[in-house]
Amino acid sequence: MENFFSSYYQLVTRIDQLTEKLFKLHKNHIQCKKGCDLCCMDYRIFPVEYYAIREQLRMQNRPETRPQETDEDCVFLKDHGCAIYENRPIICRTHGLPLLYMNDESWELSTCELNFTNFNDDDFSDENTYPQDKFNSELFQLNKRFIATFKEKKFSEFDLIPIKELASEI
Ligand code: SF4
Repeated sequence: MENFFSSYYQLVTRIDQLTEKLFKLHKNHIQCKKGCDLCCMDYRIFPVEYYAIREQLRMQNRPETRPQETDEDCVFLKDHGCAIYENRPIICRTHGLPLLYMNDESWELSTCELNFTNFNDDDFSDENTYPQDKFNSELFQLNKRFIATFKEKKFSEFDLIPIKELASEI
């Protein structure tokens, strides 16, 4: 049987390699730094990612969490830092980069409002942007195979789980 968590972490490794390259490439445009939590929120993630992270966190000391003040807050954001940084979800690994994705049959680019304050659309291509659809599609397919292993149809293909639920399961 496929080792889904290992496949997930292989995907994470490839994403980390690419994001590291992109952060270096765009270093003059990127304001991201330790202590900035503008992108942090209670994201919802696919079950395969949720269970893979849960497994990793269960092997470590329990991270500090904080009570949610609003439904949007991430419970792992502690003193403006991520308490599960090494195991944070994929979406958190791409914060701040220029993200290229398809929207209603046209390409769109998303960037943090603090970064890339001075650029032309022509500055970006598939060579220097993060291909969000490509990796999301890989994650979607991996998740599809993963949820098919649950005996009773516990999850549908589009079910997502809020990160905050991890706090009560680790
Ligand atoms: S998991 Fe970490 S990086 Fe992701 S939203 Fe929460 S605090 Fe921020």
